[in-house]
Amino acid sequence: MGLYKYKTEPLLDFTSKEVLQKYEEALKFVGGYLGKTYPLIIDGEFVETNDLYTSLNPADHTQVIGKIHQASIENAEKAMESALKAFETWKKVKASIRADVLFKAAAIIRKRKYEFSALMTFEAGKPWPEADADTAEAIDFLEYYGRQMLLLEESDKLTLSRRNIERNEFKYIPLGVAAVITPWNFPLAILAGMTSAAVVAGNTVLLKPAITTQVIAYKFMEVLKEAGLPKGVVNFIPGDGPEIGEFMVKHPKTRFVSFTGSKNVGLSINQTAATPQKGQIWIKRVIAEMGGKDAILVDSDADLELAAESIVKSTFGFSGQKCSACSRAIIHEDVYDEVVEMVKEKTEKLTYGNPKDFSNFMGPLTDEKAFNKVTSYIEIAKNEGRLLTGGTANKEMGWFVSPTVFADCAPNSRIMQEEVFGPVLAMTKVKSFQEGIEVANNTEYGLTGAVISNNRFNLEKAREEYHVGNLYLNRKCTGAIVGYQPFGGFNNSGTDSKAGGPDYLLLHMQAKSISEWL
Ligand code: NAD
Repeated sequence: MGLYKYKTEPLLDFTSKEVLQKYEEALKFVGGYLGKTYPLIIDGEFVETNDLYTSLNPADHTQVIGKIHQASIENAEKAMESALKAFETWKKVKASIRADVLFKAAAIIRKRKYEFSALMTFEAGKPWPEADADTAEAIDFLEYYGRQMLLLEESDKLTLSRRNIERNEFKYIPLGVAAVITPWNFPLAILAGMTSAAVVAGNTVLLKPAITTQVIAYKFMEVLKEAGLPKGVVNFIPGDGPEIGEFMVKHPKTRFVSFTGSKNVGLSINQTAATPQKGQIWIKRVIAEMGGKDAILVDSDADLELAAESIVKSTFGFSGQKCSACSRAIIHEDVYDEVVEMVKEKTEKLTYGNPKDFSNFMGPLTDEKAFNKVTSYIEIAKNEGRLLTGGTANKEMGWFVSPTVFADCAPNSRIMQEEVFGPVLAMTKVKSFQEGIEVANNTEYGLTGAVISNNRFNLEKAREEYHVGNLYLNRKCTGAIVGYQPFGGFNNSGTDSKAGGPDYLLLHMQAKSISEWL
């Protein structure tokens, strides 16, 4: 097993002048190709539809990142035909060769890592360290799933229990065509992870990226081609979610759906996929990773500096647009006032603005829809809690909302229950650690959560009773690392899958038992 271990991609050291300079150069380089037009890719062919989506910089409405041809239903049908044809050969390609494509793709992204990160700064509004972490995670997913596939290939050779009357085999085979539908908030890492997991397991893919980050998605297609992925294995059909996404989910030849995005869309995909279509001869599998309402619980006996730092970092990193972001702070009454004050102070020190400037800790929200949603939740929260800091917004140049904190929010208020997906924190006071756990568990989600405590008994209690897919003790609740903290949530946060974990690839395969009578 150790044979296939690797070190995760190191993050850039932004205290280094050389790194800062290289990032500036990458911004210039990417700046040189902004505004280009990008086609669909079906069966390896570039397809133009003349229905163009214009991708704009969320921090600067005047800057066009690129124009992307949008798929029609006809294009999506062609993509399905291509994926079905490619499946007949790709499924027979040795797993180690499929894995090698992923390793090559990882190497190519590693070589172009500044460029990919700079593009995310432009198209996704990612501050430099956030963009770098996204690129590093994409590399990690490719390396990790490649190695996981090598392990599975080996386990194929293992026979089951033996008897002298038969020879038994057990092997994992691919499923078929995957509908891969991705979100914009990790436009490279999640897209690369979901696509490569499907592909390395021997499936072929219809890939529909999120609307706002389609140029980044196209650049990943370039990488796959350069890495030697045969045509038709991944078909790139950017387009409208409810139209193209739903078509992919409904299609009778779609074997499984791999989705990351919001709860509402995930639940509707699950329902659509469950309805058999004419000519469909299987039950579609759905892998869905959805939203969260993640909390950090602070005990009475805790390092309060660590608590405040963890809350602020987890809440405001990438403007709170992470499914793992902290959006609730649940604090023991003994330390409540102190932590509230520390969080307020730290939040007020955060800088925000166009992420092309390294000095900005926080950038914009992704688009107008997100801006409207977040600002409307701020208005709701003004009636539910005490506005401590922030609460302002400005959409003149980009979709900017200031880091916002509300104190004294009731556990059942909307700001404590619903996913906002922006830089907004709701804080609440509890009388005991036990009550804190109950409040933490009191949502329909169950993605990430953290506990800051020096009390061993309470930490153990949290291990047992805090019902989230990713629990962190004495640290922030964001920043899961591939192969270290397999990622995915409980309840309405998804289908309990774990991206970057040892059983993830198995969700993309089916097991076949073969017994030969002797
Ligand atoms: P979203 O649900 O709006 O969109 C996700 C994808 O689904 C996009 O590609 C979109 O075009 C597509 N889509 C929209 N409607 C569709 C439909 N009816 N049928 C098929 N596809 C459709 O989500 P988003 O705004 O892109 O991403 C943010 C959400 O994703 C947040 O809720 C966040 O918590 C969640 N998220 C979860 C994880 C996780 O690992 N659990 C990771 C990242 C993001």
